[in-house]
Amino acid sequence: MQELFDFKDDNAGTTARAKELRELIKQYDYAYYTTAEPLIPDFEYDALFRELQDIEKQYPELAAGDSPTQRVGGGLLREFVTVRHTVPMLSLANTYSREEVEDFDRRVRELLGGEEYRYVAELKFDGVALSLKYQNGKLALATTRGDGISGDDITQNVKTLRSVPLSVEPVEVGGQPLSDFEVRGEAYMLEKDFLRINQLRLENVEKTFANPRNLTAGTLKLLDSSQVAQRPLNMICYWLYTESVKLTSHYENIQLLRRLGFETYEGVRICDNIEQVFKFIEKWEKRRSELPFQIDGIVLKVDSLRQQDILGSVARSPRWAIAYKYEAEKAETKLNSITLQVGRTGIVTPVAELEPVFLAGSTISRATLHNIDYITSLDIRVGDTVIVQKAGDVIPKVSAVIPEKRLENSVPFEFPEYCSCPLNGKLIRPEGEAHYYCDHADCPEQARRRIEHFVSRNAMNIDGLGERVIEQLSELGYLKHISDIFKLKEYRSHIAAIDRWGDKSTDNLLDAIEKSKSQPFHRVLYGLGIRFVGEGAAKLLARTFRNIDALSSATKEQLLAVHEIGKKIADSVINYFANPEMLELIESLRQSGLQLEGDSAQTAASAAFAGKTFVLTGELESLTRTKAQEIIESHGGKVTSAVSKNTNFVIAGGQPGSKYDKAVKLGVTILDEASFLEMVQE
Ligand code: NAD
Repeated sequence: MQELFDFKDDNAGTTARAKELRELIKQYDYAYYTTAEPLIPDFEYDALFRELQDIEKQYPELAAGDSPTQRVGGGLLREFVTVRHTVPMLSLANTYSREEVEDFDRRVRELLGGEEYRYVAELKFDGVALSLKYQNGKLALATTRGDGISGDDITQNVKTLRSVPLSVEPVEVGGQPLSDFEVRGEAYMLEKDFLRINQLRLENVEKTFANPRNLTAGTLKLLDSSQVAQRPLNMICYWLYTESVKLTSHYENIQLLRRLGFETYEGVRICDNIEQVFKFIEKWEKRRSELPFQIDGIVLKVDSLRQQDILGSVARSPRWAIAYKYEAEKAETKLNSITLQVGRTGIVTPVAELEPVFLAGSTISRATLHNIDYITSLDIRVGDTVIVQKAGDVIPKVSAVIPEKRLENSVPFEFPEYCSCPLNGKLIRPEGEAHYYCDHADCPEQARRRIEHFVSRNAMNIDGLGERVIEQLSELGYLKHISDIFKLKEYRSHIAAIDRWGDKSTDNLLDAIEKSKSQPFHRVLYGLGIRFVGEGAAKLLARTFRNIDALSSATKEQLLAVHEIGKKIADSVINYFANPEMLELIESLRQSGLQLEGDSAQTAASAAFAGKTFVLTGELESLTRTKAQEIIESHGGKVTSAVSKNTNFVIAGGQPGSKYDKAVKLGVTILDEASFLEMVQE
């Protein structure tokens, strides 16, 4: 931020500064919109953006046509078909200051020349803008905002969002049916789903997402819509446009959207004056942490659509709306100690043990410190007074140290040589990695984490075997390894005699364990916790190799031949099965009766579909596209929206679109509906 104040107000300096700002902003935009990995906090970005806007306002000759202030950030992806928006999808002017909200109100009043007006106050959902077009009540097209003029066609991906209706019952407006229209809104993910997905990725040693918005943006860009379907995204709508009926009020449009079956936010408020707007702002500033999703501010819009037209828009935002943004909530507290947490793969994460402090709706007493590089770069020391904030407002993190409050005798943190686990394994940092690992395969903490993963909801889903129970049974010596889960019944009477257990709880647990034996092979495989083998890879491997013996004896080449299995996963699978202890575990699970092979009924068809990429085009007669997609995916294939040289089959229904022509050009096999169905029945 320092550079903001260093700039001298001479023309040469100003020109150079404007150039520098444009370059910086372009670089930050790329990281934010394209790779969904922001480099700086929004507040800092907004300050740079504002600085550039101010320079360009003062020296209009410096306002280059390609300046980021002149267009909507976003960009387009090569992998998707680009579609031009009927009405440009603009951004919003934003501010962090109440005075500027008052200025906005003054401008609106002046531009409306004394007419009465009212505002609609809404939440500013922190997600990704989408446009949906309906024709004859059916969802025909879904696009991203892109560069504001055109967006990416991500219809296949958006169809997997449950809150997006694939068709709607037409509603009458002024006696006319409303069945051709466009809806805009924000795709978002609930905080609880974001935390669950990130936790899983952490356990699989996969890169985690910074916040739900980034995860949403990353998900919508996936080329494989079956993967999108596995991530629970929602869409909340706030804009309706049609040429078939007359619409007059933004507030009424939101009610209409609700009647049509779209998710909308019920707390939208009409505000007759700016004081009511400030009340709304204050209310949500205090209560934002109670919401199940993230917001980054509120949006204020002039209600009358006629007045919106009068006000019009400037380069990248309408003049009838403004966003008031909230700053990230922060708190100051003391760092009492740094402890180590051992994950199931042996990764050791440093954790800040904090003097409890209340922040954004909950009391924080622990926060991740990521790894030694993070601690060193901020020079975080035990005893320091630190700033904590919720990264993306969800996960608590130590974001800074207050140097003036540092204790005189403090010393830089050094990573311990030995693990804090009961076996005090030596801590090792492999070359080029940011993490330390505990080098003790028998470490009971790692074993406990592995059991927790094995019984988790997306793996064996064993109810009643939570963290506490695992810890208790492990300390009593009944549950040391995954294989012990299925031997617990031998200790039934001992467990029932434990304080607060009794016959009923014991039998419930044993029943749940028994039931889990029918979980399909891919869940068992995922539960084994092979590094980098997440749910998707487990399904793929289970479908392709069909049973654990074929998988455990697969060569690296065979593994790499599976579509989407890369070197990292292949090496990890090979290493896993090279370990005699893992082979012993598998033998034990086999003895216990777990499913170690896939469903043989699907085998022949699966062989034709597994790992293959399909594209659907045109109208299918006997089944919907969603059904066709389900069939393909259930046999191990995947559906993408664009034809490329990596496409294996294009399934063409009646009146196929440009995808058909592209398939012909690229020589991709084209199947009609009948041949596709034959392939399914094989
Ligand atoms: P924005 O997110 O500030 O505001 C516009 C968007 O708000 C709309 O496109 C829409 O998607 C969304 N929105 C949410 N609720 C809405 C509602 N109720 N009504 C209407 N729209 C609603 O603007 P932007 O152009 O998407 O992004 C610019 C902002 O993104 C910047 O101000 C900055 O904070 C952030 N950004 C950060 C970085 C970084 O490096 N940290 C980089 C680029 C952009």
